[in-house]
Amino acid sequence: MNEPFIELSGIHKSFGKVEVLKGVDYAVERGSVSCLIGPSGSGKSTLLRCINSLEQPELGEIRVDGVLMGKATRRGHYRVLDEKEIAGQRASIGMVFQQFNLFPHMTALENVTVAPRWVKRESRAETKRRGMELLERVSLGSRAGHYPAELSGGQQQRVAIARALSMQPKVLLFDEPTSALDPELVGEVLAVMKDLARAGMTMIVVTHEMAFAHDVADHVAFMDGGVIVEEGHPRDVLDSPRTERAKDFLNRV
Ligand code: ADP
Ligand code: MG
Repeated sequence: MNEPFIELSGIHKSFGKVEVLKGVDYAVERGSVSCLIGPSGSGKSTLLRCINSLEQPELGEIRVDGVLMGKATRRGHYRVLDEKEIAGQRASIGMVFQQFNLFPHMTALENVTVAPRWVKRESRAETKRRGMELLERVSLGSRAGHYPAELSGGQQQRVAIARALSMQPKVLLFDEPTSALDPELVGEVLAVMKDLARAGMTMIVVTHEMAFAHDVADHVAFMDGGVIVEEGHPRDVLDSPRTERAKDFLNRV
């Protein structure tokens, strides 16, 4: 692998006495699509949340684009960059959640302009112009004035993707982006994600959509019990898993 774009080493994370991440090493190449799969409770969301500093591990080290985000040499002594640097680095990491998390009192266009307008202090005209471009990109130009409640789940999730893109992130993290959708709406969201992948966006995708992982991902990691049990090329991991745990999981999904 070239110099990894995101690199986690020896990550441990506990909630109270329960250790949820038990020593995770994980690397993501620039411009690649990496899927994280595994049973519920295996630590996938927690791992994503550590990457964008929503959670702090107790032990280990995280680098994003060559910047050391945080490091602990002794358990419980994890140190992050100073708040300002973290804020800047976090702005370069976009996140898309299972439940869309759009601002309900804002239109689609307002949802995709609010961050560049108020965080980056860009002008109203410029953010509006780019906001419309982003909505077009997810095929929702005609819905710019609609509120989330007036949109389908698939449309809301596409607005959420456009909103994540509005900060011009270097990487997008997706946490089960299609799990809350009715089956007939899953395809339109995956299609947008495929477009982004083709355009060279670095993406980490927690998903149960094995066809997407198989066809779009460059790398698949299978997590179970707070560790990465198996990882590699999608065809190897998904078609001929080596471990019993991965075999069991893949037989069940
Ligand atoms: P996954 O996304 O793979 O389903 P999670 O990372 O959400 O797994 O959760 C892993 C484990 O950590 C689960 O047992 C969950 O209950 C626990 N957990 C996650 N977040 C918290 C939290 N904020 N407080 C306490 N326990 C948590
Ligand atoms: Mg999760």
